[in-house]
Amino acid sequence: MKPPRILAIANQKGGVGKTTTAVNLAAALALRHKVLLVDLDPQGNASTGLGVTRPDRAPGAHALLTEGRPVADTIRRTGIANLSLLPAEPDLLGAEMELVDMSARETRLRDALAGLQGFDWVLLDCPPSLGLLTLNALVAADAMLVPLQTEFYALEGMSQIMQTLERVRHRLNPALRLEGIVLTMFDRRNNLSEAVAGDVRGVFGAQVFDAVIPRNVRVSEAPSHGLPVTAYDPRSPGAEAYARLAAELLRRHRARLREEARA
Ligand code: ADP
Ligand code: MG
Repeated sequence: MKPPRILAIANQKGGVGKTTTAVNLAAALALRHKVLLVDLDPQGNASTGLGVTRPDRAPGAHALLTEGRPVADTIRRTGIANLSLLPAEPDLLGAEMELVDMSARETRLRDALAGLQGFDWVLLDCPPSLGLLTLNALVAADAMLVPLQTEFYALEGMSQIMQTLERVRHRLNPALRLEGIVLTMFDRRNNLSEAVAGDVRGVFGAQVFDAVIPRNVRVSEAPSHGLPVTAYDPRSPGAEAYARLAAELLRRHRARLREEARA
């Protein structure tokens, strides 16, 4: 079996839609593929969003990264077919500090996921920082996907994450690609959203996905039901947007594979 494709969902800003994108893109991909979502944020929002409560989160990412637990012990099924979760237990809060003194501190996730079988896609939901947890994600990943909130300050902070991408490429993971930038919380009624989207496309061009995620109350309600919006309300604008994003991601991926085969 070929290894899964691993995507880190990263942006050091909080509240930009990382977790929402990780959960809903994972669920949309799971309609056709076997998907693992890894919760690397000690807040455990992705775990909550898939209905895994705190007592059921151990062993999770902390045990995997700091105790050397085998990955198979840390993965559970979710209520969504073909979607599994590697949760963030509350102890993960200490991992950022614990990892500092550990050997191979930047490659522990990559090492832990090596040989993982049975999945086509693995999505890594990163915490809102560029610390060791995010670094581990970028080292383990084939590509980085950056959710960008469609607001006035959208582009601020992008240089920081792009520099981090370069640094990781240089030192630890030369093959790391930018999978793309996803505009989130787009508000059709607000002219600013349109202007910001135009600016971001002006700077990043084709690296920005055509699919845009609208601000949609169903998206924000779904986690309190422990469901992705694609299951909570599949006909909502948010669910449809995440389905389009998944289709576009798969299309781009297939096109790239064809190109590589020709080269
Ligand atoms: P991050 O993981 O980057 O911190 P979240 O995905 O948790 O960001 O999103 C931050 C907040 O915004 C959450 O309360 C979430 O429910 C809300 N949110 C995210 N995307 C949308 C959307 N498309 N429509 C409405 N609310 C959203
Ligand atoms: Mg989050």
